[in-house]
Amino acid sequence: PYTGPTAEEILRKRKEFLSPSMFCFYKKPLNIVHGKMQYLFDENGRRYLDGFGGIATVSCGHCHPDVIQAIVNQTTNIQHSTILYLNHAIADFAEALATKMPGDLKVVFFTNSGTEANELAMMIARLYTGCQDIISLRNAYHGNAAGTMAATAMCNWKFNVVQSGVHHTQNPDPYRGAFGSDGEKYAKDVEDIIQFGTSGNVAGFIFEAIQGVGGIVELAPNYLTGVYGTIKKAGGLVIADEVQCGFARTGSNFWGFQNHGIMPDIVSMAKGIGNGIPLGAVVTTPEIANVLTRRNYFNTFGGNPVSTAAGHAVLKVIEKEKLQENAHVVGSYLKERLLSLKDKHEIIGDVRGRGLILGVELVTDWKSKTPASAETLEVMDSMKDLGVLVGKGGFYGNVFRITPPLCFNKQDADFLVDAMDYSMSKL
Ligand code: PMP
Repeated sequence: PYTGPTAEEILRKRKEFLSPSMFCFYKKPLNIVHGKMQYLFDENGRRYLDGFGGIATVSCGHCHPDVIQAIVNQTTNIQHSTILYLNHAIADFAEALATKMPGDLKVVFFTNSGTEANELAMMIARLYTGCQDIISLRNAYHGNAAGTMAATAMCNWKFNVVQSGVHHTQNPDPYRGAFGSDGEKYAKDVEDIIQFGTSGNVAGFIFEAIQGVGGIVELAPNYLTGVYGTIKKAGGLVIADEVQCGFARTGSNFWGFQNHGIMPDIVSMAKGIGNGIPLGAVVTTPEIANVLTRRNYFNTFGGNPVSTAAGHAVLKVIEKEKLQENAHVVGSYLKERLLSLKDKHEIIGDVRGRGLILGVELVTDWKSKTPASAETLEVMDSMKDLGVLVGKGGFYGNVFRITPPLCFNKQDADFLVDAMDYSMSKL
């Protein structure tokens, strides 16, 4: 049994010694002391089904034994910076990761986070093209350093510091967007931005195939194929931010962008890549990667032996346990069940997503689509009391984000939906 500090003691220390901007999801925050695959345990030994850990980095499952073993083995041998000596872990993982990429995407740069990965991806695009302008989608989240905060397009994540060189285009959001599911109409806005807001040439376009923080928004059909041509004509590079929707999560494909049939020039990744270990990466073609030889480029801990040993183990587990297939099968089942919940509870305005990255948007009525933000919190808290954890997102905080570890099974899906059903009935 756990004998460490209680939730109250931790909260007191947090208040005194940690950033005042840290937030917790629940009215009464949980003190999670242990994790096992799709389950989390609090200080009293109470078990919770984790419907959100996937976004918080866990792809294979909490404390997956293979990943732990790889970390322990590597830690026992050597942990060091990547910049001084040779080590096989970084080379082996880069090779394994490259085999998961389509086309000529095979040169890997490692970082420690998604923000760093996107900062690097955007810098590479700017260096390669000699242009500054980057286009990102409204409602996107790409990170919290100056460049990526510029690409992020929700005011609640942006501080008032210099964020230059990014234009935000209309979000091809089938539920709330101006043109519904007409991807071609949204794509036209990218053309307009290039024509009327730039010199006619751009550095690139960055997108999430499914927006995570923005509330599990799937981009309208035919949008990306349309934008792709426009960006190429303007000399730009296409950057896929796979931080949330990569690593088999969408089920139908290993990478989110593959569901749209396009081939990006640069792919950034983080979170699920390390199953909880801080790790990020940028993958691009040899020709584009070459721009970084113009100066010295390094990252002290990016790709360190322990993190890359973990990353490599993650890839092996995804393969061995057929987690992509599982994401597809269980995700499709879960989505079906959530859709039938929509017939029962009018508060559900939309159910969307793919594989094990699903969203449920709550509105006060279907016509006005007024966000039911308070109710979302209430249902979330009630589900927690029933032993089920889900996430929340979207600009208005009215979308449940369901992104469990990829080992989630059908019984878990049933339990999650039943808990949501019961909690909504109590509203
Ligand atoms: N891109 C996306 C799509 C993200 O969701 C996030 C984090 N929420 C980031 C980038 C930034 O990653 P990190 O927090 O590791 O810097």
